[in-house]
Amino acid sequence: MSTIRSICVYCGSSDAVAPAYIRLGETLGAELAARGVRMVYGGGGVGLMGVCARAAHEAGGEVLGVIPRFLVAKERMYEAVEHRVVETMHDRKRIMFDESDAFIVAPGGIGTLEEAVETLSWMRLGLHRKPMAFLAEDGYWAPFFDLIDHTVAQGVTPAAFRDLIIDARSPAQALGALDGSAGAAQEAAAIPY
Ligand code: AMP
Repeated sequence: MSTIRSICVYCGSSDAVAPAYIRLGETLGAELAARGVRMVYGGGGVGLMGVCARAAHEAGGEVLGVIPRFLVAKERMYEAVEHRVVETMHDRKRIMFDESDAFIVAPGGIGTLEEAVETLSWMRLGLHRKPMAFLAEDGYWAPFFDLIDHTVAQGVTPAAFRDLIIDARSPAQALGALDGSAGAAQEAAAIPY
């Protein structure tokens, strides 16, 4: 049985993305709800964040939004779901991390990258063993994986660490891989420098 009850979704706040990305956010939200997995996210009503949270909520799923006070208006906090208003970006990330068993990174920009890379860096340091999947149907994250592969080729990152990062093409694949990788993530702490 899965030990993953709560998944943090990092994704973009832009409304100017392709319709296919909007559909991906909807599918992800619905899939989380269908599996009875709580969605934890940045609390906004904008972009893929809002789309995914609304889809999860409207499908009967549990959603927790965590948003800093100064972004409540700017990111149009989604009030229909449980939310926590915090003071800083660091508080937001800490609570999103603590409340989640795993992470999905859907298409997003600088903010999404920042959150994802911090969580990956904590995995690299052995500070947690929560699995992480990057999700895109169209190879959106391919340049990111190219960069990680470059760091592996240059001897900066161990290949074993790269292998722990899930590259998923659909929400179902991401969720299935996260479920199946709980053990693999345990290995992160054991990878030497
Ligand atoms: P973006 O991918 O740039 O659209 O941003 C996605 C989300 O990440 C937005 O809700 C941003 O407020 C959030 N974000 C941006 N920078 C940070 C940060 N340093 N810590 C936490 N969240 C952030």
